[in-house]
Amino acid sequence: MSEGAAKKEDKPRKFQAIRGTRDLLPPETALWNRVEQTAHSVFATFGFGEIRLPVFEVTELFARSIGADTDVVSKEMYTFTSVESALSRADAFRQYIGERRVMADQWVTVEDLQKDLQEFILEIDGSAKSDLPMDPPSQVKLSILRKGPEQLDSLRGFQGKAEYHEVFDSIVGNIQTSARWLRFGPSATLRPEATASVCRAYVEHNMQQLPQPVKLYYMGPMFRRERPQRGRYRQFYQIGAEILGGTDAPAIDAEVIEMVMTFFDKLELQGVQLDINSIGCRDCRPKYVELLRTELLKVKDKLGPDSQRRMETNPLRVLDSKLESEQKIIEKLPRIADHLCEDCATHYAAVKRQLELRGVIYRENWRLVRGLDYYMRTTFEVTAAGLGSQNAVCGGGRYDGLVELLGGPPTKGIGFAIGEDRLILSLLETGHPSLATRLSRAETKGHSPAPTRSGPLLYIAWIGEKAHATAIRAAKDLRNAGFSVELPPVEQKFGKALGQADKLGARFALILGDNEVAEGLWTLKTLADGSQQKFTEFDLLEFLRKQDSVSS
Ligand code: ATP
Ligand code: MG
Repeated sequence: MSEGAAKKEDKPRKFQAIRGTRDLLPPETALWNRVEQTAHSVFATFGFGEIRLPVFEVTELFARSIGADTDVVSKEMYTFTSVESALSRADAFRQYIGERRVMADQWVTVEDLQKDLQEFILEIDGSAKSDLPMDPPSQVKLSILRKGPEQLDSLRGFQGKAEYHEVFDSIVGNIQTSARWLRFGPSATLRPEATASVCRAYVEHNMQQLPQPVKLYYMGPMFRRERPQRGRYRQFYQIGAEILGGTDAPAIDAEVIEMVMTFFDKLELQGVQLDINSIGCRDCRPKYVELLRTELLKVKDKLGPDSQRRMETNPLRVLDSKLESEQKIIEKLPRIADHLCEDCATHYAAVKRQLELRGVIYRENWRLVRGLDYYMRTTFEVTAAGLGSQNAVCGGGRYDGLVELLGGPPTKGIGFAIGEDRLILSLLETGHPSLATRLSRAETKGHSPAPTRSGPLLYIAWIGEKAHATAIRAAKDLRNAGFSVELPPVEQKFGKALGQADKLGARFALILGDNEVAEGLWTLKTLADGSQQKFTEFDLLEFLRKQDSVSS
């Protein structure tokens, strides 16, 4: 092998972010911050408080709330148990016990057995304490195991007797069974959405005792193992809000939608389209779903495999189909609006009236259903421009039964989740041309990266020890006054320093050499036109303050 090849192999591996995850870099992160700041301030004006939730929760929380038949739960969750070492230890122990059982007549193994059983119990206790709690049946099994050493003791009395074999088998058999049924769980899952967590928190912290309704919002990463593509990631970000408790008055539905639209409005999101629907309640929806299933059966052969499957598991989802060949068939299916019970129909009509009072423009879309099981009555979705087929930026709706399903009191609930990644993508594609070009440059692999921030207001070009000391002090004062200042760490010729200032996009260069320091008069160069002015330190601050207020 040539030396060159050997060197190549030694080169440390370069790492890449896992497929479906990505880094958010400046300057795009500035836009993320602006979006989040806008959410904080708009939501606050509607009386919402922020809740910060754990990123992982007990798996069952999601399975029970989102629904086992949904794509999210059946195949997209990142689930793990954090006691794997204990699990494999338990496997080994079960096997060991099994072997002892076979060798029953060698009673000398009783002490060994006791010792091993005790060690095993200690280990399980340790991991049960430090990790996820065991489920209750496992706790029962563990308490049986704890009695094992004592029972084994009693075996000594049977030594040499005819029953020895039988008693040994019964005690060790008991231990084996208990060990077999130990479960280290419940397992945990990276949250695929946050509504279930908000409801969990509402119950856990007895928020039903607070003045109702409780209005909460959140923002942060969610995780779904989906096929990554533009606008669809495995780690993505949502901004969402929930209203829990109080009444299900239609004005609440309308106000929460109004808040979403106000937020998008403030961000100047382009091509915003709000779709609404009512998907009925526990009384009327099942009847409609049955009707739908019957009608779907009649056209089964004309449907694709996805819809044929959904027809069985979740017929409403067929309405969601984007398959060209199915569109004509779906258009002829019965519509839920014609099958709502009286209460749902009244509620839906009132929501529409309330939206109109608020000047919120909507489109009724009878095919709008949500992917998660817990929704009822009002559902809505917002789409925006520049996103291709992944154009939904917000999904939401009412979920009155959810808190109860999670062990809380009967509680009304409504909320939404905004896909922040798509929201930002849409803003970049349509509303922020300058940022967009810089970013698309960064996204083209192999090209120079985008600038990591907007340029500093001022670049300090200094030469000489004394000037460096003055520059350090000037930088400190200017930054304290709120100006962004770039102070080069090593001396460089003025020409090079000015070139650097230009590259960074600075507006001014502050020139500090021996003369300036001696005179106490600093030279400020405006980079756009090359003009220069002299200032005392005090006047410079005043001048920059004025500049700043002119430009902003
Ligand atoms: P879609 O049909 O677009 O997959 P969904 O019904 O799965 O959406 P929800 O669970 O209602 O979406 O989540 C609300 C919003 O979160 C969506 O409208 C979308 O903007 C965003 N979102 C959902 N999944 C992803 C993902 N994998 N990557 C980026 N954003 C997502
Ligand atoms: Mg989805």
